[in-house]
Amino acid sequence: MTKIVVIGAGITGLTCAYFLKKPYEILEANSYAGGLCCSYYNNGFTFDCSGHFIHIKDKKIKRFINKISGGLFEVKRNAYIYLNKTFIPYPFQAHLSYLPEKIKKECLEGIVKRKNINIHANMSFLNWSKAMFGYGITKYFMSPYNKKLWNYDLNKMTATWVGKFVPKPEACSIIKSAYSENKKKYGYNSVFYYPKKNGCEALINGLLKKVKVNFNSKTTKIDIENKTIYCQNGKSYKYDKIISTQPMLELLKQINSVPKNIQKASKKLLYSSVRCINIGVQANNCVPEILKNKHWIYIPESKFSFYRVGLYSNVYPKSAPKHCYSFYVEYSSFSGKKYKKTENIIEDLKKINFIRSNDKIIAFNSVDIPYAYIIFDKDRENSLREITGFLNKNNIFSIGRYGAWEYSFIEKNINDAKTLVEKLNYF
Ligand SMILES: Cc1cc2nc3c(=O)[nH]c(=O)nc-3n(C[C@H](O)[C@H](O)[C@H](O)COP(=O)(O)OP(=O)(O)OC[C@H]3O[C@@H](n4cnc5c(N)ncnc54)[C@H](O)[C@@H]3O)c2cc1C
Repeated sequence: MTKIVVIGAGITGLTCAYFLKKPYEILEANSYAGGLCCSYYNNGFTFDCSGHFIHIKDKKIKRFINKISGGLFEVKRNAYIYLNKTFIPYPFQAHLSYLPEKIKKECLEGIVKRKNINIHANMSFLNWSKAMFGYGITKYFMSPYNKKLWNYDLNKMTATWVGKFVPKPEACSIIKSAYSENKKKYGYNSVFYYPKKNGCEALINGLLKKVKVNFNSKTTKIDIENKTIYCQNGKSYKYDKIISTQPMLELLKQINSVPKNIQKASKKLLYSSVRCINIGVQANNCVPEILKNKHWIYIPESKFSFYRVGLYSNVYPKSAPKHCYSFYVEYSSFSGKKYKKTENIIEDLKKINFIRSNDKIIAFNSVDIPYAYIIFDKDRENSLREITGFLNKNNIFSIGRYGAWEYSFIEKNINDAKTLVEKLNYF
């Protein structure tokens, strides 16, 4: 009978194993499962790998996540942009009335003066943003924020990723928003869900009830002629098919004979890395007034090293002990390069009163995400097509956020895992 080896016990690998009806082995490099859906329990706080909030459109997947996680609760998003000491509701481009007069004027002029050009996703991200939102909105939010997030030249990135991730209000709604409150909810995550217990890892714990994982089994070599996988721990596994959820670049490094054209294509795959700092704070009056009810805040100004700050305890109060609140702070670098100016984080948080002088930090942990955001440039699509063709021809299916080299999220990972396995169960 066909034997399938699944590499990685994150949400994608575990979902594959959960639905597989054929014999399988699941190999996980770490001594624990979860990948980026792990949670950390520290001094009474529950932290995730930065905000891991679940946005779901598909009712079947919602029922599935509800079942494996032990129940979800619904949250109405309360996200902001912090600019010029002001909090602007998200999305920036639909709330111009909150801006100081000078910036508001530039944003309005920008939208009115846009050139009527054919907007398409293959434009550079910067040109796309100027064509879509005008000069001012690009200058004050789209450009500085995305520079900090991707750490890559926005002239070289395309807009092929913006799809559901960047809300695109009509020009008339943008203009109206400069004079009156815009009540419309924009974006894929205006309502999201979170497990009732144990953080994002609740999903992983549910899957582990049915799936048996080989831990401490980092794959190091894949012999595609002899259909054998070798692990760092000395064990090897024969396979008929591989489902790999490790980053595509790492997978290619392990395959014994990769043709020159595929090696060349792999050099064009770019990514950015993220460091997430989790902070638990003990405070007399609990969360500072300016942060009350805020779930996360985008920070476009380059004087702060971090691009986003979120408050776990505002989403789920039980994730922090009594009289405490908890944060995640994210900053990024290009392709695993050194992070800049990280030593200033706590000072910067104090400067902007996200932490007050008499608040006490009682929990702290830092999580490195070497592959965090895949960079979308003009080469990505062709390179991916070539590489995926080579892998599939050799019975290797590379899926998940980093396996498929895409900008995806939990719902899509579960859906893709289920769809692939349904096909493999049949053949
Ligand atoms: C900063 C950030 C915030 C995010 N926020 C959200 C959010 O709010 N909502 C949402 O839906 N999604 C969010 N995501 C996306 C979400 O984290 C991913 O879509 C999802 O976790 C991907 O799961 P995966 O199983 O494909 O990959 P991973 O979680 O990366 O799992 C891969 C697994 O493979 C293992 N592995 C790697 N190499 C090997 C090897 N050689 N041998 C064996 N095992 C190996 C790893 O240890 C890991 O366990 C966010 C992502 C980031 C970076």
